[in-house]
Amino acid sequence: MSEISVAGAGMAGLVAAARLRELGCPAVVREKGTRVGGSMLLSSCVVFRHRDFEAFREECPGGDEALQRLVWERLDDAIAWLVSRGAPVVWEETGNPRTVGKRFDPRGLVDALVGEVELGADGRVDGPLILCTGGFAASPELVTRYVAPAAPLRLRANPWSAGDGLTVGLERGAALTDGMADFYGRNMPDAPWDETELVALSQLYGRFARIFDEDGVEFFAGDQVSWSEANVVAATARRPGAKAFYLLDETALGERVRDRTVADMVAAAPAEARVPLAGLPFRPPEGAVAAVRVIASITHTIGGLRVDERTRVLRADGKSVGGLWAAGVDAGGVATGGYASGLAQALVLGLAAAEDAAAHGV
Ligand SMILES: Cc1cc2nc3c(=O)[nH]c(=O)nc-3n(C[C@H](O)[C@H](O)[C@H](O)COP(=O)(O)OP(=O)(O)OC[C@H]3O[C@@H](n4cnc5c(N)ncnc54)[C@H](O)[C@@H]3O)c2cc1C
Repeated sequence: MSEISVAGAGMAGLVAAARLRELGCPAVVREKGTRVGGSMLLSSCVVFRHRDFEAFREECPGGDEALQRLVWERLDDAIAWLVSRGAPVVWEETGNPRTVGKRFDPRGLVDALVGEVELGADGRVDGPLILCTGGFAASPELVTRYVAPAAPLRLRANPWSAGDGLTVGLERGAALTDGMADFYGRNMPDAPWDETELVALSQLYGRFARIFDEDGVEFFAGDQVSWSEANVVAATARRPGAKAFYLLDETALGERVRDRTVADMVAAAPAEARVPLAGLPFRPPEGAVAAVRVIASITHTIGGLRVDERTRVLRADGKSVGGLWAAGVDAGGVATGGYASGLAQALVLGLAAAEDAAAHGV
C-alpha cells in the first residue's frame, strides 16, 4: 500500500489522518502553519447540521444535493466518533432550534485527533493526496478574483489558508464548483483586533439594527437578515469600503443574543468603531442612540474544488482526476447559496476521504 499525503492539519486534515491511522493506512500529514488546528482552533467549535434536510436545501439552494445529503446523514455518527475518541463536549446541544449538533472544546478536539504532523511543511506534494488546506480566504488575490468584494475583506480565520488546495486541484485538471463568490464571515468592528477576539467581537445583532452604508444608503432591513447573519455580511462586502454602520435605538440595545444584550456587545466593541451620532457621514434615523461601524470579514470560502460523494476531485467532464481528494472547505458545493457548518463539512468529508483512499489501497 503506498503512502497517502494529507495537506493541512486543521479540522478536515486531522480527521482524515486519524481515520487513516484507524484503518491501518500509512499517511504523512503536512501542515504549512506553525501550529496544528487551522481555523478550527480559533472557532466556537459548534459542529452542527440543520434539523431537517429540507431546511438545509432551502437555506443552501445552490449546493450539490448528494454532498449535502452525505454531510447531513453522516454527521450524527461522525460526532459520536469524535466523542468516542475523547473529544470534550462543552454543549450537548447547539441551543438553536433549527440545528442539531454539539459544541466541543477546540483544544481538546485537536488533542483527541492529532498524531504525527510535519509543521511548516507545504502539503503540495506529488502522489496520492488528500487536500485539506481550508480554502482561499487568506489570499487577497483569490478573494478579489472570485469573491469580488467592493474593497478588501478583513481575514477572520487562520492566516495560512491561501488557496493552495485550489491551485493543486486546478493544476491536476479539476473543475471548480458554482458559487465561487460565496463566503462565510462576520461583520466585525472596523478597528484593530487579533485572532483571540474573533468570536467575542463578532457583531451579531444586524437583525436588530438599521443598516446604512458609508454613503448613507440604507441597504438591508432587519427582517431580511438570516439567523446566521451571513447574508448581511455578504451584502456589506458589496457596499463602499465593504463597510456599514449599525444604527441602534433603545429597544434594539435591550435585545438579547444568547447570554448577552446588544448593549453589552456594543460596549465591548473597540472605541474606534463606536461612532458618535454627530460624527456619522449622514443624518441618523429618528430614535437612533448608538452607531457601530463594521467591516465585512471572511472566515471561509464556500466555492471550491468539485468533488463526488467519495470526495474524489472531479474534472469538468465528471470523471475523477485520480489520486486526489478534497475535504473540508477545499471541497466546494456544500453550502452554496447560504450557510452551513464548516466543521461538519470538514468532519464528514475528512472521514469519507480517508475511507475512500484506504479502500482503494493507494
Ligand atoms: C472565529 C471562528 C469561529 C468559527 N465558528 C465555527 C462554528 O462554531 N461552527 C462551524 O461549523 N464552523 C466554525 N468556524 C469555521 C470552521 O473553523 C472552518 O469551517 C473549518 O475549520 C474548516 O475546516 P478545514 O479543515 O477545511 O480548514 P482549517 O480547519 O482552517 O484547516 C486548514 C489547514 O490547512 C493548512 N494549510 C493551508 N495551506 C496548506 C498547505 N499548502 N500545506 C499544508 N497545510 C496547509 C492551514 O494552515 C490549516 O491548518 C469558525 C471559524 C472561525 C475563524
